[in-house]
Amino acid sequence: MSKAELMKLTVAKLKALCQEKGITIPSGSKKADIVKLILESGATQEKSDKKAPAKKAPKESGDKTDSKLQKTQRKSMEYIKKEHVVTRTMEANWYLSSYKYKYNITHMQPFLEKMKEKKLVGLQCSNCNRVFFAPKLVCGNCLIKPDRWVDIRETGRISTFTVSYLVDDKTGEVIQKPIVLVQHDGSDTTWLAELSPGVRYQDTYIGMPVKVKWREDTEGSIDDIEYYEPLEDNAKDIPLRKDY
Ligand SMILES: [Zn+2]
Repeated sequence: MSKAELMKLTVAKLKALCQEKGITIPSGSKKADIVKLILESGATQEKSDKKAPAKKAPKESGDKTDSKLQKTQRKSMEYIKKEHVVTRTMEANWYLSSYKYKYNITHMQPFLEKMKEKKLVGLQCSNCNRVFFAPKLVCGNCLIKPDRWVDIRETGRISTFTVSYLVDDKTGEVIQKPIVLVQHDGSDTTWLAELSPGVRYQDTYIGMPVKVKWREDTEGSIDDIEYYEPLEDNAKDIPLRKDY
């Protein structure tokens, strides 16, 4: 299909064509932009003769010689996905328990030592100043190693939560309890946690203030936090967000 032919189609049809061919359209694209994308992707190649391949070669790339190579190489966000052809299907079991993986926790050591003293510390990125709790090995924004330890308060708020359904081994009863993400005061990230036993998910809400409940005998592990206790919310007049 030539450019002129494509321009005659409606925007809806062009979008449908893009979807079919796996072309991503950036938001705010105009009709001409979409047509350009289709031509560059070579999606109409099979229907046209030899005009399309000449147009689709990226202008600013270093090696213009091998256009076949350019089609599969990831040069930019305009990566062209190869079409996936299903040849046959086969049923199989996937034993996930046999997988092993390495997880580097050397950066967690000062954090774990403080846990033993019932104190919380986060790791701060010296470039963007974000504080990670739990500590992260690399700042995802700056791609550098956060290297500044900062104190974190024992209090925080629930940033989101979900409900887990666990079957009691003895009674067979389904126990519904909230699993929460807590954002500690002083931290920019959240942390997966449980609330005190007996707190119903129906009473849990985003923004709920909570406080760490430590174990009696701490041993320098993330399990030293037994659970989080809800605190009295003195902002009760504000309508609470309940997304369920
Ligand atoms: Zn950073």
